[in-house]
Amino acid sequence: MTFKELGLSEKVLKAVTAAGYTEPTPIQAQAIPEVLARRDVMGIAQTGTGKTAAFTLPMISLSEKGRARARMPRTLILEPTRELAAQVEENFEKYAVNHKLSVALLIGGVSFEDQMRKLDRGADVLIATPGRLLDLFERGRILMTGVEILVIDEADRMLDMGFIPDIERIVKMVPFTRQTLFFSATMPPEIERLADQFLQNPVQVQVAAAATTAKTVEQKLVKAPKKDQDKRAKLRDVIDSQDNISNAIIFCNRKKDVATLHRSLMKRNYSVGSLHGDMDQTSRMKTLAGFRDNEIKFLVASDVAARGLDIPDVSHVFNFDVPIHAEDYVHRIGRCGRAGRDGWAFSLVTPADDRYLDAILKLTGDDLEWFNGEPVEADKPDTDGKPTRQRRASSAKSADKTEDKSASQAEKKPRRTRSSRKHEEPQDAVPQVEKTTAKKAEKPAEEKRRNNRKRGRDEDQDNGKTPKGMGDHMPAFLMQSTRDKG
Ligand code: ADP
Ligand code: MG
Repeated sequence: MTFKELGLSEKVLKAVTAAGYTEPTPIQAQAIPEVLARRDVMGIAQTGTGKTAAFTLPMISLSEKGRARARMPRTLILEPTRELAAQVEENFEKYAVNHKLSVALLIGGVSFEDQMRKLDRGADVLIATPGRLLDLFERGRILMTGVEILVIDEADRMLDMGFIPDIERIVKMVPFTRQTLFFSATMPPEIERLADQFLQNPVQVQVAAAATTAKTVEQKLVKAPKKDQDKRAKLRDVIDSQDNISNAIIFCNRKKDVATLHRSLMKRNYSVGSLHGDMDQTSRMKTLAGFRDNEIKFLVASDVAARGLDIPDVSHVFNFDVPIHAEDYVHRIGRCGRAGRDGWAFSLVTPADDRYLDAILKLTGDDLEWFNGEPVEADKPDTDGKPTRQRRASSAKSADKTEDKSASQAEKKPRRTRSSRKHEEPQDAVPQVEKTTAKKAEKPAEEKRRNNRKRGRDEDQDNGKTPKGMGDHMPAFLMQSTRDKG
């Protein structure tokens, strides 16, 4: 398959060549013709497989038809975080080098003035976080009646509790006749049902079951002590045991732990920066730029960095905490192993994390091995008569109630607590079994996902759609492994 066969315009094809892309990824091969045919699309593909170009390239092609009107944007792309919106803008500029499209990046945390000036001059494309977009709309600075294409990237996150009121308002501002494109690597069934309300006769473009982790990421679990200080020491041990780290993101569940871990690593002379939603935007951008430019090797971050960020040099992801929401795991580890590169993800697992780990295994259907074989010895019949270690089901820790503030007002609101968190407590204790590999039977992932959610959501019913299989064709760059080349 070539890009040319997909029906993109000459000018777009030129930009694709200039970007160095030789072959479309599966999501691009499948989604681009549908977008060009002006269909609504629900696109699901693993992290790092080129979803941005899957919606941007055909969008730019379509923009050649029709004429821009001053102050009347024809395209609106919504993103959950400011950093991601800025990255998509960069992507857009790259793919639209041969076009005279004017793009306005509308994100919070920075001054209104530049954005308003840009809007006054007339923008063809808006790339926005919901809060700032609504703010500007309310100030009468944007007309959205000319919007022909609405893209909701990271769609399941955008339809989550924190954002949904904003999204509903925005959708009412754009014409009913618009084309709507949803993309993500994860799509819980109950969110998909919600998404259907915004789509008209959509095509499902799904190259892998939702919540499939990137194939290029090698995942390991690390048995970790509960005490923070010991856990930080364990993290350093794991980091120091890896000699192939180019850059790494270390995720914590809570902002205060981001700060503590950042300080602790800095004290020990690691090259480290931090990123979370309570930081001012200038620091956020400065840190991220430093990380992109390899001035900082380790980025300690909250889930504000979990979605979408595409930094090629990230070789490793460390989950200092197992994420509470299993989808976040898929996105966090998806910050490495992008565009066919190899990646390594290590998750520190304390005894209190059993249930979250369980949810991740069910969601992804992956077999996760313990780093250094831990706790392998517990699994083998004990030769010297010592009792084998048993995993305990234990009470949960809870994440910060306050969410990362990011671009939008929505982000200040508490995020959906996956139905009421209380109901999510598994009534049945996790079976007291030993595990060497935290292993689950092979997919069907859809079924696992359903079961996973049933546990936590009484409203969750089986509406399971059978996922389409992996596309037949995989471009070479997504297949190649450099892991064994040293
Ligand atoms: P996703 O949104 O699926 O997580 P991105 O759109 O951020 O992935 O793309 C991941 C990386 O893959 C980016 O660095 C992008 O430049 C690169 N990429 C996208 N499409 C191709 C392609 N067809 N060939 C090579 N690289 C690509
Ligand atoms: Mg993306």
